[in-house]
Amino acid sequence: MLKIIFASKNNGKIREVKDILSGTNLEIVSLLDLNDNENIIEDGMTFEENAMKKASHVFNKYKIPVIADDSGLVVNQLNDGPGVFSARYSGPNATENQNNMKLIEELKHLPEPHHARYICSAVYYNGEKYLTAEGEERGIITLNAKGVNGFGYDPLFIPENYSVTMAELDPKEKNKISHRAKAFNKLKKQLSSLLSR
Ligand code: IMP
Repeated sequence: MLKIIFASKNNGKIREVKDILSGTNLEIVSLLDLNDNENIIEDGMTFEENAMKKASHVFNKYKIPVIADDSGLVVNQLNDGPGVFSARYSGPNATENQNNMKLIEELKHLPEPHHARYICSAVYYNGEKYLTAEGEERGIITLNAKGVNGFGYDPLFIPENYSVTMAELDPKEKNKISHRAKAFNKLKKQLSSLLSR
């Protein structure tokens, strides 16, 4: 097994990425597994910039290959916000619930449908080389939160071609269609060709 650090402390993401990369010869160790509580500043203008920053920071600390992702929700009627600010939409220490309440407040006076996309940029870094991949999932924001699965904005996000929210989907189903699954499945292919060289 090749040990790789997943540079995240977000339990929801960690569960998903471990599941997406299960069945490979990669042993995924998260920052939670390492009891690493450091806050890495995410001041990039793009998801990819932030993901690369997390990956290089964590590689320089542990000298072990790293995967990282940066992701967020992009809403057309909010000029593509909250975007890279998704995790701190309602303030620096925002809870998921506060962020969801703010999204409802911002959208409730605007006409439906509220078109949105989840975007995920996934990055691998081994001290020499970066691999990057992006995934996107289109959907619509409902102001009527439903479901308990997933994390973040999932109770408000109805994926395209579905009539239920992401939080109502079985986690296995989310992992077939999500922005994160698309990004990490692409990264997985690039990584297996890099590692087989
Ligand atoms: P990051 O840790 O900076 O990548 O923050 C990602 C933020 O975007 C999360 O805290 C959520 O608010 C939101 N987000 C990203 N991916 C998802 C998802 O799959 N479901 C729900 N919210 C997500």
